[in-house]
Amino acid sequence: MSALGKAFRFTRGLRFRLAFSYVFFFTILVVLLGMVFRQTLSTTFQTQMANILDEEWGAAKGYLRTGDSGPDWFYDRDDPDESFVVRRLQRVYLLADPEGHPLQHSVIYDSIGLDSPAEIKAVLKSGQPATRIRKDSQGIPYMIRSGLMVDERHNRYYLAIGRALDYNDKVIRDFTRNYIILVPVVIFLSGLLGWFLAGKALDPVNSVAKTAQRITHSNLDMQIPLRGAGDELDRLIEAFNHMMTRLNRSFEQIRQFSTDVSHELRTPLTVVRGQLEVAMFTAKTVDHHREAMAEALEGVDRLSNIVRALLMLSQAESGQLALQKTQLDFTGLVRDLVDQHQIPAEAQGLRLSADLGVTCMIYADRVQIERLVSNLLGNAIKYTPSGGEVKVRLIRSFDQVKLIVEDTGVGIAPDHLPHIFDRFYRVPSADPEKGLGLGLSFVAWIVKAHDGTVEVESKLDQGTRFIVTLPAGPTAAMLESPALPMPEQVH
Ligand code: ADP
Repeated sequence: MSALGKAFRFTRGLRFRLAFSYVFFFTILVVLLGMVFRQTLSTTFQTQMANILDEEWGAAKGYLRTGDSGPDWFYDRDDPDESFVVRRLQRVYLLADPEGHPLQHSVIYDSIGLDSPAEIKAVLKSGQPATRIRKDSQGIPYMIRSGLMVDERHNRYYLAIGRALDYNDKVIRDFTRNYIILVPVVIFLSGLLGWFLAGKALDPVNSVAKTAQRITHSNLDMQIPLRGAGDELDRLIEAFNHMMTRLNRSFEQIRQFSTDVSHELRTPLTVVRGQLEVAMFTAKTVDHHREAMAEALEGVDRLSNIVRALLMLSQAESGQLALQKTQLDFTGLVRDLVDQHQIPAEAQGLRLSADLGVTCMIYADRVQIERLVSNLLGNAIKYTPSGGEVKVRLIRSFDQVKLIVEDTGVGIAPDHLPHIFDRFYRVPSADPEKGLGLGLSFVAWIVKAHDGTVEVESKLDQGTRFIVTLPAGPTAAMLESPALPMPEQVH
């Protein structure tokens, strides 16, 4: 793999993506925090400065009075504290008459730029003190607070007092610079931490993947041990283990099926071969010859029955088997099949009885419904020992027909009950001569194809009851009436 390919694969990895997302959001957070903090700092400084200026403006007003030679600063020049305060007030100030003509101002105010008469008049007209930020010729920012001042002789003046903001700006600049230096370091450290944490979080996934890789067709029963954390990963392991169990069962069934099919096929094949050999080498008379050929044909019939059943089931399950639905006399059909099964039932020493009631019609495929009933009857007879009983009942309700086939046979253990409708599933103890485990798969498919349901109740060594429910068609009486619904309308 090329270096570029490797790098691409690396960046597609879950660990990288987790760590990257972590670093990405962390960076956004850190940058946003820095910006918010910087803004808060600058707003706080400005508010603080505005408050100080407010106080100083008030103080300056106290020291400025109109003397004989016009407005001037009046204070005790021998008092060092007062002198200090007034000198500080005099650093940045402008005193102007209401027309906007400057009367006095400090040197620094000159470098900031004197307020124009229009500006002065606008502030005085608004009646509100104004605060603004201006830069001097060297680019140092100043906050200026200005407003109307009326002295004790009722003279009106415009007074502006200012303070440099350079110290505040320096604090903010220093903070920004340090922050910009610190952010990449913090992000790098958070990247390392993210990489480490993502690795730790994904550790169990890797160990699960390693275990999963060890699973092959020969150890499908292998399970990944749960970590006991009850978290998402444990749920994933549980789901994986369940999947393995199901997969293992399917493999088991297919293995069992291959054994069963080969067994089923081998017996008639041996018969066919034996009889053909007899016909070829040992049969002396025409009758003997015929007898051998007839038995070979019987074997071939059995073989083709098995193959046909398999083919049909796979066609049915893949939806290729089209149903020929017509109105059927279900009661008559069940009665005929019960009659046909009397001989095998008697041969096995069983009592087979039917309680069918009034005629029930259904809209269904005759061949498939016959197959369904025969399978259930055949099974009931097959799995009931001599002396037992098989009962068939039909119950019709408003829109449903229930076919109940119950026997007093060997029953099915609760462990096997959920699986008997599975394809190729046979209760392991069942006599291998008795079937392929396909009969009930057919039953399940036929019932489903007719929008019905099938249920089973069974007790080991006591008997089994199959209940098939199908949608009912019109009654015989309805069929004679002229307002008979068409088959398509029934379903
Ligand atoms: P099979 O060809 O083996 O009869 P089925 O699909 O018809 O296959 O039945 C599946 C399994 O269900 C059978 O192997 C059998 O063990 C069990 N089974 C079906 N019907 C009955 C029944 N009436 N009584 C007891 N066991 C039954």
